[in-house]
Amino acid sequence: ELLDYKRVMTHILDRFEFMLKSGKSTKGFVIKREFTTSDIYIEMDQDRMTQVIDNIINNAIKYSPDGGEIFVSIQESHDKVTTIVRDQGLGIPQKDLPHLFERFYRVDKARSRDQGGTGLGLAISKEVIELHGGKIWAESRENSGSSFIFELPYENFEIIDEGWDD
Ligand code: ATP
Ligand code: MG
Repeated sequence: ELLDYKRVMTHILDRFEFMLKSGKSTKGFVIKREFTTSDIYIEMDQDRMTQVIDNIINNAIKYSPDGGEIFVSIQESHDKVTTIVRDQGLGIPQKDLPHLFERFYRVDKARSRDQGGTGLGLAISKEVIELHGGKIWAESRENSGSSFIFELPYENFEIIDEGWDD
């Protein structure tokens, strides 16, 4: 289905903000958004894409014991849309980065033991992003948070059109 991606994202983030405000959590989280001003229509499966974003934001919350800012950015270029979710949490050791998207992989069992979860979230996310023709990866410096980045293919006709102007 061809959907308004910023609208889908806004809906998901509003729901998280509501949950964070009304919940008993004493950690202070702020969700900051920086979306391109362009309208972004993407061919996607809304339920499955929601599952991906839910997992990434849930992870950002779960693995940020002291709260902090969760920054969500959506930007487009001529052929893709890039989404970045950055947190100020525990970070991920360099050696674990290549394995995060494997089934049941969890960084440091002791650290994530009391956090519910199976270690499937990112494996599923990768599958869904790839089904949409995109790719996903993580970047991190330990102790200064993590970023999860995914790119989705996109045809930006406005930019393509400009090329024909003379
Ligand atoms: P599930 O998503 O199935 O409930 P999970 O959150 O443990 O369980 P994934 O979402 O696949 O599983 O994440 C895999 C592991 O990657 C996590 O257990 C955690 O160790 C690490 N991780 C994921 N996101 C972050 C993050 N934002 N900051 C730090 N570590 C993270
Ligand atoms: Mg998860």
